[in-house]
Amino acid sequence: MEIKITRTETPKAKPQGKLGFGKVFTDHMFIMNYEEGKGWHDARIVPYQSITLDPSAMVFHYGQEMFEGLKAYKGADGKVRLFRPDMNAKRTNATNQRLCIPQLPEEDFVEAVKAVVEVDQDWIPTEDGTSLYIRPFIIATDEFLGVAPSKTYLFIIILSPSGAYYESGLAPVGIWIEDDYVRAVRGGMGFAKTGGNYAASLAAQVKAHDDGYSQVLWLDGVERKYIEEVGAMNIFFKIDGKIVTPMLNGSILPGITRNSVIEVCKSWGYEVEERRISVDELISAQKEGRLEECFGTGTAAVISPVGKLRYKDDVMLINNNEIGEVSQKLYDTITGIQWGKIEDKFGWTVNVGK
Ligand SMILES: *Cc1c(COP(=O)(O)O)cnc(C)c1O
Repeated sequence: MEIKITRTETPKAKPQGKLGFGKVFTDHMFIMNYEEGKGWHDARIVPYQSITLDPSAMVFHYGQEMFEGLKAYKGADGKVRLFRPDMNAKRTNATNQRLCIPQLPEEDFVEAVKAVVEVDQDWIPTEDGTSLYIRPFIIATDEFLGVAPSKTYLFIIILSPSGAYYESGLAPVGIWIEDDYVRAVRGGMGFAKTGGNYAASLAAQVKAHDDGYSQVLWLDGVERKYIEEVGAMNIFFKIDGKIVTPMLNGSILPGITRNSVIEVCKSWGYEVEERRISVDELISAQKEGRLEECFGTGTAAVISPVGKLRYKDDVMLINNNEIGEVSQKLYDTITGIQWGKIEDKFGWTVNVGK
């Protein structure tokens, strides 16, 4: 793929002080068009700018869009690393297939990410725990109000320097098990990374926040009995010494952190079970003292220990609302690989530039 690069003549000032998440964007962006008959074309890196779309552009009306999320990390050795970008490329195509968006060659996805990160690599923050968040996305752009797959698309990648998720070390969160709203059902698009799933989640999230819980844990959409996942994270439990997580059943997002956690736990000799887990099983395991740990997994936080689970009128405390041993070890290991502090035995990191 040939990528034309046009550099900005007016670079912005880099942010000073504490970085938050998702509000500051770098000097450049990647953009590429799709047109039926012509395929993906005109790959280019241009100064970060607004895009102009006709109000009838399909994405505004029927939500035909997808997104991804990954990070670039600058290590103490000065090297810039990506974490398993090939997995994001594969997941892009799984999402695209579900949403009738044309397939994107996996190597082009990875090349585009590397190229735009390289152009803006001076924007990668270096303080402990910080990184450059990468947001690739595709939108349907046909000017047409009919319900059908669009014939034109834009693939865009924007970059945002982001602060440490945990400012003073890992901290356990409280999670609301939602027993009314559901996020996705099998046969729907729960496994796809698309905005519609998030739109569907907002009402429950607002409810949970109002009650002082940071995130929602979804139950299956049919029986509202089995654990699915958290807002933007997959969920793991340590029960009776075993690592247990809901199996991928079509309504759960196949997280790359989830997959990495499974691999790392297996390499440590833990038995890992991917299966159905009912709320009732969790409640009895907690009552009997067998629910040893609970944590969420996702690119943003990597590992998010859960200290409290609310279900209807019950509040379950886990590990005394303290960080579990496996949670801490997983966090240290995976972030260690990402920042190049420990050896990458799995061959997961990909260098950008030299
Ligand atoms: C992105 C996402 C995750 C986490 O996936 P990672 O690849 O680990 O970042 C989990 N659940 C949902 C709904 C997501 O959108």
